[in-house]
Amino acid sequence: MFSKILIANRGEIALRVLRACKELGIQTVAVHSTADANAMHVRLADESVCIGPASATDSYLNIPQLLAACEITGADAVHPGYGFLSENARFADILEAHNIAFIGPTADHIRIMGDKIEAKLTAQRLGIPVVPGSDGAVTPSDDAHAIAREIGYPVLVKAAAGGGGRGMKVAETEKDLDRALSTARAEAKAAFGDDALYMEKYLGKPRHIEIQVLGDGQGNAIHLGERDCSLQRRHQKVWEEAPSPALNASQRTEIGEIVADAMRKLKYRGVGTIEFLYENGEFYFIEMNTRLQVEHPVTEMITGIDLVNEQIRIASGAKLTIRQEDVLFEGHAIECRINAENPRSFVPSPGQITYYHPPGGLGVRVDSGVYQGYRIPPYYDSLIGKLIVHGRNRVECLMRLRRCLDEFVVDGIESTIPLFRDLVDNQDIANGMYDIHWLEKYLAAAG
Ligand code: ADP
Repeated sequence: MFSKILIANRGEIALRVLRACKELGIQTVAVHSTADANAMHVRLADESVCIGPASATDSYLNIPQLLAACEITGADAVHPGYGFLSENARFADILEAHNIAFIGPTADHIRIMGDKIEAKLTAQRLGIPVVPGSDGAVTPSDDAHAIAREIGYPVLVKAAAGGGGRGMKVAETEKDLDRALSTARAEAKAAFGDDALYMEKYLGKPRHIEIQVLGDGQGNAIHLGERDCSLQRRHQKVWEEAPSPALNASQRTEIGEIVADAMRKLKYRGVGTIEFLYENGEFYFIEMNTRLQVEHPVTEMITGIDLVNEQIRIASGAKLTIRQEDVLFEGHAIECRINAENPRSFVPSPGQITYYHPPGGLGVRVDSGVYQGYRIPPYYDSLIGKLIVHGRNRVECLMRLRRCLDEFVVDGIESTIPLFRDLVDNQDIANGMYDIHWLEKYLAAAG
């Protein structure tokens, strides 16, 4: 087992990882920018190292500084959290070259899944259902019209190097295709310096359903069920739940087995998430995230499995000890991402928290690094915490969530808590009747 882990992240996820390390009896090193000197994970870590100024490029993304921090403290492993360097294959390679373990998958697997065309071809090869589309890139010399006709309209043009929903254009009919291709190509070139495009069937009203996997890199892998993350704003998840209100147990087992089997063939190591669009009873792969996700606690709440603990044990060379038949799904869990933003305009609201009272009680978990008097810096994303609630069933979970949102006080800044108070009372939400466009339409109607 590792003796000292450096946590290459900030905010709630740095604290989440620190907690897992402490429970494993592993020493912790926090790294921080000058803007984060007062962060909770820095206070609670055994050691801390300032790695640079506020700008993430000069601190949390600064590989030489992180390496120096490992060297100074003698850390033998790095946990990257999510975001920042968590899906940076070069970082994984460099750590390995310095005999420091990267708590995550192999650099090769990060690289494959980071390239959207390569990822899709790999998924398909492993038996995972994908969105019908061009098999690989569509080059200017290809007959795009013939390919699109074969796929069937509407068609979605996507950038191979895309991310965050950028470089995507819908062609409703054949007459829109040339324009969709040229604008997507120009956008992709400008945003990513890579104008490779591919095409997919455009799904009109899908849900976003993702499967959590856990593998040991030695050919053993299991799935931990799904999360429904359909409630999104600008492709950012806002509310996540498990199980999905749209799936039954046999559908869960079927897709879970397909994915776990694929991960066994790949010899995947660590935690990962296979994201699907789900429409009319069918799953369509969109991408794989080769890291711990923001919404992982939802899965932990219904399975009782500590995903960060498993990540660390597996990275140290341990075999998977949980068998698929040991994984039991109990009750229902919902996570709300609490952002320091205006709940209607979503304009960021950094500043000092003057009063803070998080909810508690049975089945309630708050993952947050903030505290009363804490000053939220303006330099990073606006996630200030996650409220995760568990109930024996979805109805109990929603009642508990409503109670927790009423208790939750964050004064001095604006937060998205009022939005969740509205959502929890909404009839469509109560009925579990929502797709990936529901939240945007709801917000537009609410003005
Ligand atoms: P990115 O890496 O930019 O997030 P994704 O492939 O994950 O790209 O797509 C981003 C979002 O675009 C998805 O979450 C989904 O909302 C939408 N999307 C992607 N592919 C399709 C498709 N074939 N049909 C409809 N919507 C899609």
